[in-house]
Amino acid sequence: MDVIDKIYQEDRSPKPAGHPRILALANQKGGVGKTTTAINLGTALAAIGERVLIVDLDPQGNASTGLGIDRRSRSTSTYDVLVGEAPLRESVVPTAVPRLHIATSTMDLSGLELELGTTPGRAFRLRDAIAALNHNATPDTDYTYVLIDCPPSLNLLTVNAMAASDAILVPLQCEFFALEGLSQLLQTVEQVKTTLNPNLSIHGIVLTMFDSRNNLSNQVVADVRQFMGSKVYNTMIPRNVRISEAPSYGKPVLVYDLKCVGSEAYLKLATEVIQRERELRAH
Ligand code: ADP
Ligand code: MG
Repeated sequence: MDVIDKIYQEDRSPKPAGHPRILALANQKGGVGKTTTAINLGTALAAIGERVLIVDLDPQGNASTGLGIDRRSRSTSTYDVLVGEAPLRESVVPTAVPRLHIATSTMDLSGLELELGTTPGRAFRLRDAIAALNHNATPDTDYTYVLIDCPPSLNLLTVNAMAASDAILVPLQCEFFALEGLSQLLQTVEQVKTTLNPNLSIHGIVLTMFDSRNNLSNQVVADVRQFMGSKVYNTMIPRNVRISEAPSYGKPVLVYDLKCVGSEAYLKLATEVIQRERELRAH
């Protein structure tokens, strides 16, 4: 990590005034690259000097595992936070990456929907937990970015993420059914916008597992760009075996192999995300 640290030390971007930018990685399809993007965009942002918190909101806990956090270090999880039994700070553990922390998850989360039933305010549990974290920020928890890794469904957990977020980042896999389901996702975002969170927007769509030698991949890129226009980031994440190997070592790909094309792509994406943030703030 030292190398990345040194390279990007000078490029440290200033903390945006006020509170962290909160972005949810959402797509109700599984296996499209939400968790991979949460881990590696988070690492890349931290490498550029941002202070990043990943919130693992998937009962599978892949983001926690992929960052090398073993189950014993998850005594307090996002489940405890959402049922109101612990402040968010208590579920947060540091990772091996400087400036990157994670609020860990456990399987308990899968019972949350039933457990909360029709409790009033159940969609705002995460929003309020993050707000409380901001109020009591220490230099260690003074995050500039919060990335929420959503589960693969449009359930109460994802709605909590959308209600808590400034914007949604949608990973879309370059495969035949990529666009299927996107309109449902966009519809849910609109619904949350009108009912729970008027400030919610789509930050961008990131095309993942792109294979330039595959005609289908190229066709999907063309279709998605035509359908979603400038919402699609210029950076595409290539299909790269190093990206898929890294989690089994409990490491982000940027730490596992900084020089591979996957790492390069996530660094480029981080730069683009920050650039988009600057443009948004300028307006
Ligand atoms: P999701 O969180 O949306 O379910 P994941 O991020 O867990 O998706 O990705 C699904 C699988 O695809 C994982 O095994 C992951 O390692 C692999 N994967 C994700 N992105 C890439 C990529 N760019 N190249 C190769 N494998 C990838
Ligand atoms: Mg996942």
